[in-house]
Amino acid sequence: MSPRASSVVTRFAPSPTGRLHVGNIRTALHNWLLAKKHGGRFVLRIDDTDAARSREEHVAAIRADLAWLGLDPDGEERQSARFAIYEEAFARLAAQGRVYRCYETAQELELKRKVLLGRGLPPIYDRAALALTEADHAAKAAAGEKPHWRFKLDHDTPIAWHDGVRGPQHFDPRQMSDPVVRRADGSWLYMLPSAIDDVAMGVTDVLRGEDHVSNTATQVQMFAALGAPCPRFAHAALLTGAEGKLSKRLGSLGVEELRAEGIEPQALVALLARLGTADPVDPALDAAALAASFDLSRFGRAPARFDEAELARVNAAIVHALPFDAVRDRLPEGMGPAAWEAIRPNLAHLGEAADWWRVVTGPVEAPDFDAETRGFLDQAATIAAQLDWQAGPWAALTAALKDATGRKGKALFLPLRQALTGMDHGPDMAALLPLIDRDEAVRRLGLDGMR
Ligand code: GLU
Repeated sequence: MSPRASSVVTRFAPSPTGRLHVGNIRTALHNWLLAKKHGGRFVLRIDDTDAARSREEHVAAIRADLAWLGLDPDGEERQSARFAIYEEAFARLAAQGRVYRCYETAQELELKRKVLLGRGLPPIYDRAALALTEADHAAKAAAGEKPHWRFKLDHDTPIAWHDGVRGPQHFDPRQMSDPVVRRADGSWLYMLPSAIDDVAMGVTDVLRGEDHVSNTATQVQMFAALGAPCPRFAHAALLTGAEGKLSKRLGSLGVEELRAEGIEPQALVALLARLGTADPVDPALDAAALAASFDLSRFGRAPARFDEAELARVNAAIVHALPFDAVRDRLPEGMGPAAWEAIRPNLAHLGEAADWWRVVTGPVEAPDFDAETRGFLDQAATIAAQLDWQAGPWAALTAALKDATGRKGKALFLPLRQALTGMDHGPDMAALLPLIDRDEAVRRLGLDGMR
């Protein structure tokens, strides 16, 4: 079933309890790509019902990270501003008997769990609280006991959905615990507000990590209880480190670190858009170009390996393609379009542009040459001093030297490169030499002791 154009609404729903890591970023990207592919809407939903753990600075960082990645939301909602909506939906569910009051303490629940596990049974909540009468509730209230609330699963309706990544999914509600949806202090757990919001916001597609599969099983019944159709669901396999293990580094690796390492947003986006599929990474400069080919059915169920060496390769490919206008503000003072184009193919990341620009502006330190090479370079300096620097000086210089000395290949080119740049390798000299001031080039080549 393919989503209808323009009707698609996706959301990215981070809890602002920390910074985004590559796993969250991938989820945000998938939702953004699916919305863009169908000309739909991508909503940022800040899941901040937990006032104690949510921080405004994390909300700001999430917005900034998405902006840096180029994943601008088409709207933003905050759960903390929507409590009245949850109250209203909750009251309807209570009236239908789909949420019920419970009083067990954490210790009592733990004991029940242990007893069941000891008998080799699944540790499913026994619904003891459903047997309480109104008089029991009144007595508990009189004794100052406040209830927490569970959502009552419908045991007679099997749970099924077609997952965009995992295919057909089936769960037996009798094998699941009725989830706690509201604490005794009235605060909300994640599950129910999320379903209420997905309905209210017209979310058509929920893409998230496979750690949410069991939540989805419960939420499928919440949508039904709320009288709403289910969105389409897709759960991507989780990311692992290059070694194939869930790595600690991945859980904390975010935009801040990657940016400090010189990773361009386009590189991260290009890699994450394909990771988990067998498709090659397309180092596109514009994320919108990746949206057209984004296809959930290409994703496999095996964990997806996030390899930082691969990210570095994609990053280099991106840097080599970035136009001057996209980078001008981050280049050293004075470095223009011609210099960018000459230097760009040699960069693994943008920060290295400054190193090559220093080679252009000097001073450079050349090796000590033997007497013969010294003589050759003096000849080069004499020729260079007379060249028209506007008309391809490298070709003219090397042609004249070849004629004059009979040198060719490495014997011709390497000493020139070493004297002019202080390096054995680097950007194409034909592009680099015109960037070096002619008098400076003559000095570097070393005419008549001017070095
Ligand atoms: N706030 C939840 C999380 O960060 C949202 C999950 C979801 O519904 O996508 O895990």
